[in-house]
Amino acid sequence: MSVLPTDSLSTPRFCGVPTFMRLPMATTLEGLDAAVIGLPSDSGAAFRTGARFAPNAVRAMSVMLRPISPYRDNINIFEALNIADAGDAAVVPGYEEECLARIEQAVAGLVNAGVVPFGIGGDHSVTLGELRAVAAKHGPVALVQFDSHSDTWDKYFADKLYSAGTPFRRAVEENLVDPAHSIQIGLRGSLFRTTDISQSIDLGYEVVTTDQMFEMGIPALAERIKERTGGRPTFITFDMDFVDPASAPGVQTPEAGGPTTRETLQLLRAMHGINLVGCDVTEISPMYEGPGQITSLLGATVLSEFMSLLASERARSAKQT
Ligand code: MN
Ligand code: MN
Repeated sequence: MSVLPTDSLSTPRFCGVPTFMRLPMATTLEGLDAAVIGLPSDSGAAFRTGARFAPNAVRAMSVMLRPISPYRDNINIFEALNIADAGDAAVVPGYEEECLARIEQAVAGLVNAGVVPFGIGGDHSVTLGELRAVAAKHGPVALVQFDSHSDTWDKYFADKLYSAGTPFRRAVEENLVDPAHSIQIGLRGSLFRTTDISQSIDLGYEVVTTDQMFEMGIPALAERIKERTGGRPTFITFDMDFVDPASAPGVQTPEAGGPTTRETLQLLRAMHGINLVGCDVTEISPMYEGPGQITSLLGATVLSEFMSLLASERARSAKQT
């Protein structure tokens, strides 16, 4: 079986229903290696809401992307992997805990069928739902988090335990991630409390701030990510505010002084040796985009880079066995 996207050399990109990268909708999970799933919940957002619109905004721009990665030995993603678009989790707007349960259920359907989920958030709280599903199958996973914020607060607004500011503390408490093999990359900017970064280290995460990332250099950081995750089942979560707001304005909580689009993609394309069991791109808030939709385009590009990472890792391990 092979699952191929619509060929944009034969049918123009603006024709048809825009699934992710013009892939077919999943009619069955049998034979699939991976699937894209929209997680359109922004019930955990504390500032610029609207990430509920991101899955379809990202899909609309993803029709621009092409199947071959010149950064990974010209691998054709869709010849290497069978990927389909699995639609969206049916969330309940305004009901954060119910959203998390629905997201967990939808992602578990993929994971339990051996399908690697590629999530499109949603605010960053959606990742907690995904991690619950992924850890139920793989045990506590190594987490690679690209984010200008730690998201390891205990509470946000009175006693609210579940929000875009808390998922990676909850994930440690619920034993969904193994912090000793996890890394947060890109933290920067002003803080509410002096402990906003050290609280992640106290939980066991390694933290690489934006400044440290540039001191270390991008190839060295890619090696560090590989060493830290150590071949364990790994979930990569990409919060779009990792990127400088000049390159990605359409986000919930923009943070000045981040990497450009080019620097971001250089890092993702340098990553290798990752045992990827799931990933997502979160926090895109399309209503804050300019008319060029550059944030959604970058979101689609980030997911396709993770697809080519998975494709090249699978090809490498097939060669070795
Ligand atoms: Mn975040
Ligand atoms: Mn963030």
